[in-house]
Amino acid sequence: MKDTLTGLDSYEVFLEKVQREIDRIGDDKIAIVYTDIKHFKYINDTYGYKVGDALLKEFADEFMLGCGPIFSASRVYSDNFVAADRIAAGTRSNEEFREIIYRMNCEREARFREKYLSSRLQFNTGISILDKDSRSLEAETAISNANLARKVAKEMESNCCVLFDQSMMEGIKREVEITSGIPRALERKEFQVYFQPKMDTDTLDLIGAEALVRWKKPDGKFIYPDEFIPLIERSGQIVDVDYYVYREVFHFLSERLKEGKKVVPISLNVSRMHLNRTDFITYVQSLLEEFRIPCSLIEFELTESIYLDNTEAALELIKGLHKLGIKVSMDDFGSGYSSLNLLSKLPIDIIKLDKVFLKEGEMQESDRIIISCVVDMAKKLHITSLCEGVETQEQCDYLKKVGCQMQQGFYFSKPVPKEDFENIMEGSV
Ligand code: C2E
Ligand code: CA
Ligand code: CA
Repeated sequence: MKDTLTGLDSYEVFLEKVQREIDRIGDDKIAIVYTDIKHFKYINDTYGYKVGDALLKEFADEFMLGCGPIFSASRVYSDNFVAADRIAAGTRSNEEFREIIYRMNCEREARFREKYLSSRLQFNTGISILDKDSRSLEAETAISNANLARKVAKEMESNCCVLFDQSMMEGIKREVEITSGIPRALERKEFQVYFQPKMDTDTLDLIGAEALVRWKKPDGKFIYPDEFIPLIERSGQIVDVDYYVYREVFHFLSERLKEGKKVVPISLNVSRMHLNRTDFITYVQSLLEEFRIPCSLIEFELTESIYLDNTEAALELIKGLHKLGIKVSMDDFGSGYSSLNLLSKLPIDIIKLDKVFLKEGEMQESDRIIISCVVDMAKKLHITSLCEGVETQEQCDYLKKVGCQMQQGFYFSKPVPKEDFENIMEGSV
């Protein structure tokens, strides 16, 4: 059976042929090449379905040529294609095969770019290579391994080609373990909020703190946010975890206020997932009302890349928070492709200079220059600046010299549990 559009084998036939080859695999290797066309939707939207179909056919014809004797190729669905190539014994290493496919992707991109003007068609490819040791493998598993490598390729540069390796399975296992554990962890209150003090540069007084989440497993081991947050951002579960953290912080502040104890403003991190939701501002407003917390005690940190992803949505979110009287900072400033232009476009209140400017050892001249320029510029734009990752007296002194108003880092304190932070607050009265 054939796919009517491309003339390639149907997926069932492809699967059968691959299985047959695996069962009798000898010294030759089999390469499963899984590719999708990035931005294909753009062609359908711009040129219409007829052109889109023609492009798929053209791609299929080329794909069928492959780089070796292909014994079957199929369109899995939409713009996802898979081919099975044979690599004759002793001809090519796996890496050489990968490089050839990569070059083919680049050449194809150039050709398509000429034909479909201004298109940005690119190709993500995952490859799994089977040898004698794979004889017991199911064809379905080999294809899904190649598909997994394609997903890794998709997160990298354009036309990327990635070879499957077993460590990817470890990554997936860990991802499943983490994402499937979240609901129970929320129920059992396994997430803990830590607080990292922020200091006034001139007086070195405590003037606030950032709330940072940790996942304490029942066996006492900690999982840190850098590991689990990217995973639960993808699954969307970050929204529940963030709301849990916010609620804990509001509760903490309200208890202390009730007892007449000292409090300082606490800043909360906002995940990019909130940008696409409409209930963020309403939720924050409901927390302010429920816990009767003055808006001056809460701030939100949006990481720099969020602004770049979707400036419009970020602007709406900032405006919504400002309406509630809440300040907003641009987190991790300078860690990625910061656009200085954004600073004049977005009404943010605080810039948090990323810790990349403060590397280990003595301060570099170039970092000193950048820090002093950013602080200067922020001042002119009436934005407060805070530097993160301060670890030494030298760094602290330099920030004072250039007029950076606030500091945060291990030099003052690591993020600490609630009880320790309460002691820090009491000590700073
Ligand atoms: P971030 O917002 O940039 O937070 C600062 C991170 O830098 C924290 O790591 C903190 O422990 C670390 N840090 C602070 N001072 C120093 C220092 O002097 N030197 C060094 N080397 N590191 C320092 P942490 O707690 O592991 O958090 C990592 C990231 O996870 C955070 O980066 C933030 O993006 C995210 N995150 C943490 N908690 C939450 C949360 O509740 N919600 C969301 N959406 N993201 C969170
Ligand atoms: Ca932050
Ligand atoms: Ca940061």
